[in-house]
Amino acid sequence: MSEQAEQAIETPVLDRYECRSCGYVYEPEKGDDSHDIPAGTLFSELPINWRCPVCTAKKVAFANIGPSGTASGFKENLGYGLGVNKLTPAQKNILIFSALALGFLFFISLYGLQ
Ligand SMILES: [Zn+2]
Repeated sequence: MSEQAEQAIETPVLDRYECRSCGYVYEPEKGDDSHDIPAGTLFSELPINWRCPVCTAKKVAFANIGPSGTASGFKENLGYGLGVNKLTPAQKNILIFSALALGFLFFISLYGLQ
């Protein structure tokens, strides 16, 4: 999907940062419960004394790995800070069921035209 790149530029960038020591990923959409960091806090806005909640590495040990939305392929998810890859199986089932229901309605409507 080539639209992704364009959308990523328009959307406020919530870059994720990965701890190079342990692989922990700081996600701005989630914040950091263990340090009372509210969701929506950019990595750059974290306190200077913030440490990796897993291995206590300093901020300088983190590498920018980009916003989470770029991997999902669903550009609308960027605005909500959620990727489809984070959906629970139950939520995925609901999505699939909704798609099937829409398809069924479309099928019925075709019959109605004949
Ligand atoms: Zn770490």
